[in-house]
Amino acid sequence: MTRTKTAVCVCSGGIDSTIAATIASREGYELHLFHASYGQRAEEREKEVVAKIAAYLDAKELKFVEIPFLKELGGSSLTNITMRVPVGEEVNLDKEKETPSTWVPCRNLILLATASAYAEVISADAIFVGFNAEEARAYPDNSKEFVKRYNAVLEKAVASFSQPPAVKAPLVDLLKPDIIKKGIDVKAPLHLTYSCYLGEEKHCGICESCLHRRRGFKEAGVEDPTEYI
Ligand SMILES: [Zn+2]
Repeated sequence: MTRTKTAVCVCSGGIDSTIAATIASREGYELHLFHASYGQRAEEREKEVVAKIAAYLDAKELKFVEIPFLKELGGSSLTNITMRVPVGEEVNLDKEKETPSTWVPCRNLILLATASAYAEVISADAIFVGFNAEEARAYPDNSKEFVKRYNAVLEKAVASFSQPPAVKAPLVDLLKPDIIKKGIDVKAPLHLTYSCYLGEEKHCGICESCLHRRRGFKEAGVEDPTEYI
């Protein structure tokens, strides 16, 4: 396939961002996968799987960046190892009432700003993200409104002679089961993805992210390829 469009794909190695990157590939974009380490527990594991996903999707480039100040700022059990990551019954998967300790303040805004800088450097046409309706229930930085407003800001955030890239969130209206069905449709490498907050070799199966993953496969009626501890 001749690829005339270029996309930066923000990829954590999880299901959502991997499917978004796969969709970019199927739409004919040349892929530049982008992973950020911000002191999250799973950063080394994520980098391993993102490298495999980049190879699988035949990405033109794989960019790893360090955003260490998010850990320094603190405020999240994902980056502060003196805090516990909630597991099992401590997790409220539907998150109507409170912000979990695993929330990283303003992470997506900072990630997108960093990915936008990279996109401007390589004159990318688009930035693909895995934002989705499941996460947006408690995290507004995953919502359609956030993407719309961020795209408006971006028009004034790049140089006058640069074309601002468009942030694209192809899963923004979907909940996990439909995201997984979409992933099967586009032949995303779900078997390579890693979701666990804890960063061990195998998925713990009981942190919030693992619980979402398990529930998503179950509700989608799709066999879960994951090996849980
Ligand atoms: Zn887990």
